[in-house]
Amino acid sequence: MTIDNFDFKGKKAIVRVDFNVPLDENGNITDDTRIRGALPTLKKILADGGSLIIMSHMGKPKGKVNPKLSLSQIKDAVAKALGTDVAFADDCMAADTLAANLKPGQALLLENLRFYPEEEGKPVGIDKADPAYDAAKKEMKERQKEFAKKLASYADVYVNDAFGTAHRRHASTAVVADYFDADHKMLGYLMEKEVKAVDNILRDIKRPFTAIMGGSKVSTKIGIIENLMDKVDNLILCGGMTYTFARAQGGQVGDSICEEDKLDLALDIMRKAKEKGVNLVLGVDCVAGNAFKNDCDTQICSVMDIPAGWEGMDAGPETRKIFANAIRGSKTILWNGPAGVFEFDNFTAGSRAIADAVVEATKDGAFSLVGGGDSVACVNKFGLADEVSYVSTGGGALLEAIEGKVLPGVAAVKGE
Ligand code: AMP
Repeated sequence: MTIDNFDFKGKKAIVRVDFNVPLDENGNITDDTRIRGALPTLKKILADGGSLIIMSHMGKPKGKVNPKLSLSQIKDAVAKALGTDVAFADDCMAADTLAANLKPGQALLLENLRFYPEEEGKPVGIDKADPAYDAAKKEMKERQKEFAKKLASYADVYVNDAFGTAHRRHASTAVVADYFDADHKMLGYLMEKEVKAVDNILRDIKRPFTAIMGGSKVSTKIGIIENLMDKVDNLILCGGMTYTFARAQGGQVGDSICEEDKLDLALDIMRKAKEKGVNLVLGVDCVAGNAFKNDCDTQICSVMDIPAGWEGMDAGPETRKIFANAIRGSKTILWNGPAGVFEFDNFTAGSRAIADAVVEATKDGAFSLVGGGDSVACVNKFGLADEVSYVSTGGGALLEAIEGKVLPGVAAVKGE
């Protein structure tokens, strides 16, 4: 079933959203992107004449009630965004009456699902090494089913619009779907858009396809790099990874971030790229700093020759040109991870050069997907989020989808 084809009139819909929004110390929302992201789905249900039971997690309360992570703090903001009153159930397992009394057009927000350990389904207070762990896990999985069944009992139909948690098999993201038939479970609009964007990257590839992987470490990106190697024409590896590759080739990288135990892996990636005919693009120069702070002294160095006491913190001018050239003319672009320590204003030039080239290629007709935590913060910092084709809301979920893994949150609804 798709959300567009379903008439919610007179139906109660339980919708999993990702309202894990950042709050300041007074409980005020500092960025409401995630609330805005779910609005098309929530508004469609209300406009059809359905009623809403909205559920989400916030933070990591680890199965215990924690007032600092209570969703009651965002109730008014949700009500304002929806343009209607929102009731609040302060115990997500005791919302029967509130849910039963909902009239068409009304909305109910459930308290943070993760106040119960059953939501994540991981046994608490027992170490993985403990011999009793497996039994505890099995028991918790049974409790998770009961928890999901209870959530399902509030509604006629289940909608999953929480892409950020789609890579987790939690009660509200996947298990709950087992209690609805195929005609009464579906993805929300945000999920549909995210899934389509990943599909564009993995299946509907227009060439040349350029992937730009940055960030701090090779080790956290290796799964995606290996998966992309079979698909891309150009693979730009930048950010902190640069120095592991330079070191692997015998370079001196000073105090740069470098994973000494990943040198063989770096050489292996270089070998594989050659075998597969992938144009692997690595930085040749960098902006090095003499301290990890914005206002340190800087110099431009070859990535192979960084003096002791200095560390590579951004792509150098020659590298920026090489990266921009590889990006220009691409027809499919994936960008994950900055090219330097972009949080410091003096080290944004490399990421900025990439962002500008991605925007230019997009204007020339490329499909560009930017995603995964820091790269989103980066395009937002440059004010360019509207000039790329798609900015994903997912961090881990996006990366796992691009690695080619089936997301449990999508599979549970689509029955794949
Ligand atoms: P990741 O979470 O792996 O995508 O890494 C993102 C982080 O990598 C950002 O916070 C950047 O500041 C950081 N980063 C990028 N380039 C470097 C570098 N050359 N040295 C240290 N950190 C870097």
